[in-house]
Amino acid sequence: MDEMRNIARAYYGRASEDEKNTIQEFFKKLDANGDGKVTLMEFNKSVSSWYSDETIFRQLDTTGDGTLDFDEVLPLYYMEEKVSPPKCDGCRDLLAGLYFTCWLCFGKGNGSTDLCCSCYNRGSFEHEHALSNFVDNHSLVVKFRIQTNDAQSEEKVRNICVRQFICS
Ligand SMILES: [Zn+2]
Ligand SMILES: [Zn+2]
Repeated sequence: MDEMRNIARAYYGRASEDEKNTIQEFFKKLDANGDGKVTLMEFNKSVSSWYSDETIFRQLDTTGDGTLDFDEVLPLYYMEEKVSPPKCDGCRDLLAGLYFTCWLCFGKGNGSTDLCCSCYNRGSFEHEHALSNFVDNHSLVVKFRIQTNDAQSEEKVRNICVRQFICS
């Protein structure tokens, strides 16, 4: 969630006035009684089912006071409206930072498979393709950028070794 929070703050810092208003409206919608704080009950009522679970609420609540203020809600807005981070197909954690995805399934419309670093490292996940076909999400972006410019480069990018990544 720390990475998601940094991403959200960076986006908000550069947001247009219109978008800032939209985000304030998003907060007001969550804060049903208008006291400037979102309780777990208010959260569960308004947040889409994908995110409405207590673990995510606790992760958003950095001050640990049991309610969310505007700054604490920011990552939620970006998760819901912009970034839509996938969940790990192993442990079901939200994937906001570095993660691995099956290269062969990606963009094929049969549902891609995404894994967090520790599930990838453990290799305990069942998937039709070998884990050596997985790439990290940063390499994936590079691959598609190069593919657009030069189709011949695809093979080069394919050889970016994901195992060079050391996940903490
Ligand atoms: Zn996982
Ligand atoms: Zn696959």
